[in-house]
Amino acid sequence: MAYKTIIGLEIHVELSTKHKIFCNCPNEFGADANTLVCPTCLGLPGSMPILDKEALEYAIKAGIAFDGEISKLIKMDRKHYYYSDLPKGFQVSQAEIPFCNGGYLEIELESGTKKINLERIHIEEDTGKQIHSEEGETLLDFNRSGVPLIEIVTKPDMNSAEEAKLFLDKLRATLKYIEVSNVKMEEGSLRCDVNINVVNSDTGEKSNISEIKNLNSFRGVVKAIEFEEKRHIDLLESGSNTKKETRRWDEAKTATILMREKGDASDYRFVVDGDIPPVKIANEWIDEIKATLPELPQDKKTRFVESYGLSSYDAGVLTQTKELSEFFEETLKHINDSKLVSNWIMGDVLRRLNDDEIEINQSNITPIALADLLALVRDDKINNNTGKKVLKEIFDTGKSPEVIVKEKGLIQISDEGEIKEIIKKVLDDNEQSIIDFKNGKDRAIGFLVGQVMKASRGKANPQLANKMLLEMIKER
Ligand SMILES: [Zn+2]
Repeated sequence: MAYKTIIGLEIHVELSTKHKIFCNCPNEFGADANTLVCPTCLGLPGSMPILDKEALEYAIKAGIAFDGEISKLIKMDRKHYYYSDLPKGFQVSQAEIPFCNGGYLEIELESGTKKINLERIHIEEDTGKQIHSEEGETLLDFNRSGVPLIEIVTKPDMNSAEEAKLFLDKLRATLKYIEVSNVKMEEGSLRCDVNINVVNSDTGEKSNISEIKNLNSFRGVVKAIEFEEKRHIDLLESGSNTKKETRRWDEAKTATILMREKGDASDYRFVVDGDIPPVKIANEWIDEIKATLPELPQDKKTRFVESYGLSSYDAGVLTQTKELSEFFEETLKHINDSKLVSNWIMGDVLRRLNDDEIEINQSNITPIALADLLALVRDDKINNNTGKKVLKEIFDTGKSPEVIVKEKGLIQISDEGEIKEIIKKVLDDNEQSIIDFKNGKDRAIGFLVGQVMKASRGKANPQLANKMLLEMIKER
């Protein structure tokens, strides 16, 4: 039976402001525990929070970048619950009126562009952090307490792990483009929860939604979704159903583990935070913030299609990160052939980056090196296959293509005399293939070309060798 998977994401993003959201403590990662704290972010009685303008500005910037509607009045609410990393007994957040409603991001699928809609974005303070020591103690660090966060809630618009991954890539790229967060999952500045269920496309039967928490890598998100898809379908197939529950992803067990069953919605007893006056947002301020936005991935993609004649898919991939898009445009400054450059980046360059799990700016390749390599290929100095080998060598060693080609003697043989010698020997050694070819077995020619390339150690100009081989066979 066919099942449709339905996925919604909730993403917490720490904003990289100078200060925390309600006090003047520095907003930094990695300092000694409890050194970046004051009475306000420790939640001591009598301390008074003051909303940080920069935090609000960064949040609004994100809202504009996702094309959401910015609320004209910002008000903060208290969300009550008790936990050791939340000494006040409440977290300052936004309940029914978030600072941003709606918005969307587009992802590029092989089948075309898909719009993933956002439900809302609200702003809140981060809590402290629990650290579980090896001795079995739980330690508390309040450096993170009061770091500004935005929580981005999507509509359940994604239908596969791949779509969720593409959405997160695009979200991260956009937040990086606009420089409101460093979006480092390993430092916890981007954290993702997944809501997932499946629907039987024939009967309409649905599984109950599971919420998966504690996902600290995109790979984890993908694996958790794939695991849950199967678990939900298996349960429905066996005549059972999932329970509404919160689970966590266990990397070591490569499985999701039950944390708690969900009862009715938790009662957080939201009330307006009386210590933080509501803030009116002037249209002029929104316009000012808008003016500071750089070219966003979506706009850059459109420009790449129009200026460089790329397909929508290719342009989407090339603008996925700011670094990759800049690498592409920088390479074009040295070799003016957008199709050639795009093909190589989309192919071998990205494959290698994926294999090494690195970004372009962490690799050994530079725009000049790629441009020089492609010039050698374009000018028939080396053939395509040799070009791929040289690219690998650049990634491995960081040497320039000219040096690699010289050191390894890879210059393409385009000298007709030299190629003629090679072909003559191959034909002498393979009488049967010549007979086969003359008897109409076209495949024999492929074999012979292969032998010529092999004999030239891959360096023969393939088009020339092919053409000469046909001529020389006829003469026999
Ligand atoms: Zn503080």
